[in-house]
Amino acid sequence: MSDCLFCKIIAGEIPSSKVYEDDLCYAFYDIAPQAPTHFLVVPKQHIQSVSAVTEETAPIVGHIFAVIARLAEELGFAGPGYRVVSNIGEAGQQTVPHLHFHVLAGRDMTWPPG
Ligand code: 5GP
Ligand code: ZN
Repeated sequence: MSDCLFCKIIAGEIPSSKVYEDDLCYAFYDIAPQAPTHFLVVPKQHIQSVSAVTEETAPIVGHIFAVIARLAEELGFAGPGYRVVSNIGEAGQQTVPHLHFHVLAGRDMTWPPG
């Protein structure tokens, strides 16, 4: 989608600090980190949110979770633990309407989230 911030980041039209990339997804550090490690993993295909995932696109989401598990091992936070969050819609406080998974690590998380 031409007017989507994350589509522009994926296309390299807006600079980002890359963590990982493959044919299906792109991971980059959040511009406003909420933990010592905070990056986003997004599908390269524009999908609005978890609410827009279909049986057809669900394998991309599964792939993203496999990527997150691998990055957690490689970056050394799988052992201590971490959090994966996806905000959905207005009440969910989603600010960028392109599906993304926040990966937060490097500190103890609190529950319930705000
Ligand atoms: P949401 O609020 O939709 O769950 O998450 C959007 C996230 O994107 C926020 O954590 C915000 O800091 C991050 N973000 C917004 N604009 C940019 C940007 O231009 N570059 C990067 N790297 N992150 C961004
Ligand atoms: Zn997009």
